[in-house]
Amino acid sequence: MINLLLFLFFIACVSIAATLVVENPGIVKMHWFDYQVETSVAFIIFAILISAVLIVLLTLIIRLIFNAPSRFMERRNVRQLKSGITELTYSISALASSNIDAADTHIRKVEKLLGNTPLTILLSAQIAKTKGDEAKTQKLLEQLLEYKETEYLAARSLSDSANKQDNLPKALVMAKKAHSIDPKNAASALAVISLQTRLGHWDEAISNIHSLKIPRREKNRIRAFISLERGKSLIENSRDEEALSLTKNILSTLPKFPPALDFCAEVYERNQQATKAKKLRVKLGQLQQGKWLCKSCGHTQDSWKLHCESCMEMDSLGQPENSINNVSN
Ligand SMILES: [Zn+2]
Repeated sequence: MINLLLFLFFIACVSIAATLVVENPGIVKMHWFDYQVETSVAFIIFAILISAVLIVLLTLIIRLIFNAPSRFMERRNVRQLKSGITELTYSISALASSNIDAADTHIRKVEKLLGNTPLTILLSAQIAKTKGDEAKTQKLLEQLLEYKETEYLAARSLSDSANKQDNLPKALVMAKKAHSIDPKNAASALAVISLQTRLGHWDEAISNIHSLKIPRREKNRIRAFISLERGKSLIENSRDEEALSLTKNILSTLPKFPPALDFCAEVYERNQQATKAKKLRVKLGQLQQGKWLCKSCGHTQDSWKLHCESCMEMDSLGQPENSINNVSN
C-alpha cells in the first residue's frame, strides 16, 4: 500500500514537472569555442533521462558479462554434485546388494565428479575390502587418516588389520592413535590394553586400566587377568619370586577361577609353599574344568588364556556353563 502511494506520488510529481516544462519551454544557450548550441529545457531534461537509462543498461550488461564465467562454473558444479550424489547412491545400493563390480564402476564415476572426499574414499575402501584387495584397502585407510571425520575409524581399522597380520607394534601404534582421538571410548582403550598385554608391556597395560570408563569391579577383574598372564610369563622365565608377589591379588579377585588357582598352586610349589599349594589343588579339584569357548568367534581350546588363540579377542574365553564372569564372582 505504501509502495502504491509512493508510486502515485512519483507519477504526480513527474506530471506536474512535465506540465511546467511544456507551459514554460524556455531556451538554453551554450557557447563552446566558436560554436553556439541553442535548445529547449525539455530537450535537455529528456537527454539527461536517456543518458541515465543508457548508463544503467550498460552497467547491467557489463556486470552480466563479468559474472558469466562464475555463474557458468556454479551451474556446472551444481550439476556435477547432483550427478555425483546419484552415482554415490547407485554405488551404495550395489554394495548393499553385494554387486561389487557395479559398486566399483559407480564409485569411479563419483571420484571423477566429486574428487577425493572422505565419503568416496571410505566407500572405495569398503569395496576394496569386500573384493579382498588388502593392499588397496590399506592405502585408502591411510588416506582416511588425513580427514578428521574418518581418522578414528581408519586408525581402528588399520590396527585391527595389523593385529590380524600379527604386526603387533603397528597395531598398537594405530590403537593408541584411535584412543587419543576418542579417549572416552572404552572399546578403544581396551584395544590398547589388549595389545600392550600381548606385547608384554605389563606396566603400561596395568596403568591404562585406571583410565577405563567401566565399573571398578570390572577394572579389578581385568587387572587380575593381566597379572595372571604376566605371572605365567614370569614362571616361564623361572622368575618364581616375582610371580609369587602376584598371587595375593589374583586369588582375592579370582578365588574360583580354575586357571588362577592352577597358576597360584604352581607358584606356591615353585616357592616351597607346599601346604598352600595343596589347599589350592583340593579346591581346584572341586571346580568344573571343561573346554574353553570363545564367545566372540566360537573357537574352543583346552587351556584358558587372556586372548582367544583364534581371533585374539581379549577376555572372550569362558566355559559354557561356568563363564569367566561367573567364576570371578
Ligand atoms: Zn575367538
